[in-house]
Amino acid sequence: MYPCRHPFETVEIHRDGEVYFCCPAYNKNSIGNVYKDSFKEIWNSDKAKEIRSLVIKGDYRFCDLGICGRKLLDYAPASVHVSNPPKQVKFCHDKECCLACGGCRKSQLVSSSDDLVRLDSKIEGVYLPILEGADSVDLAGDGDPFASRHYRTLIKRIVETYPDMKFSFHTNGVLASRQMLEELGVVDRLDVIQISFHSSTKQTWQNFTRGRPEQYDALMENIKYLSELRKSGRLPTLQFNFVITNFNYRELVPFIRLAKSFSANRVEVWGYRNRSEQTEDEAARLGVFHPVHPEYDKLREILRGPVFADPEVYLYPEIKKIRDEA
Ligand code: SF4
Repeated sequence: MYPCRHPFETVEIHRDGEVYFCCPAYNKNSIGNVYKDSFKEIWNSDKAKEIRSLVIKGDYRFCDLGICGRKLLDYAPASVHVSNPPKQVKFCHDKECCLACGGCRKSQLVSSSDDLVRLDSKIEGVYLPILEGADSVDLAGDGDPFASRHYRTLIKRIVETYPDMKFSFHTNGVLASRQMLEELGVVDRLDVIQISFHSSTKQTWQNFTRGRPEQYDALMENIKYLSELRKSGRLPTLQFNFVITNFNYRELVPFIRLAKSFSANRVEVWGYRNRSEQTEDEAARLGVFHPVHPEYDKLREILRGPVFADPEVYLYPEIKKIRDEA
């Protein structure tokens, strides 16, 4: 079996400049810091080579295989030193968003003017050079790519600097309008748009995201447009995301139907993870997929449904395990 592709092909840049091969919720080991070192050194740092050397041997001691969605290489890596740059870069360094989803944060986060100046000042010297040689860029692992003023500036500069770069957007969808995509110049450069939706009804969406009714209406309009892009072949992958918590899990099956009605060709489902925003008690209440939760059996019953056998529905390991055992 070949090793996980992430240490050989992908990086994520986080809020404090730390660089990871994949989400730090799965592998907490930073391989360097882009605010301190050159990216070329980081890509082949001692830590990067140590992780590669272990995964080549099948040793995943740095990884949480119980929750990560690892994808394997389809070739044997020649060396722990990787001379090609990463194929995909994900930016996760700006928190700014127009919603405040319960699984992510307690209130809406907006960058201060000082933060904005600081982040924008790093576009030319730090963020753009990381993309040299990459095939695609993914925004955003923190914040929303269309709500964040910094990300919008960065996207425009990527469009200007790298004419062949493909874009993957991870968004709440509220601002993912035709006008926004056209203004940013990315309509014909799309690879994936994933919408963090987490519900099948307006009321649950509002409860989960703390969003306003008119924001939900805008989201639905935008999804119609994205659905058209998907059907016309201009958007290869339209993905809907669902984070399971105690207050939305009953909508999981209707959510998948909703995604299909908008021609989504990928649905991803994972369990709520506490990003240090909730107290332990709150996290225990939200974590319905833990066997000790009082509503666990109800979730287990739902996961027995045939809809989860659909190859376009991807269950992260912690959820797939429940279905497999149900
Ligand atoms: S095995 Fe999982 S945690 Fe480890 S590098 Fe791959 S995706 Fe990340």
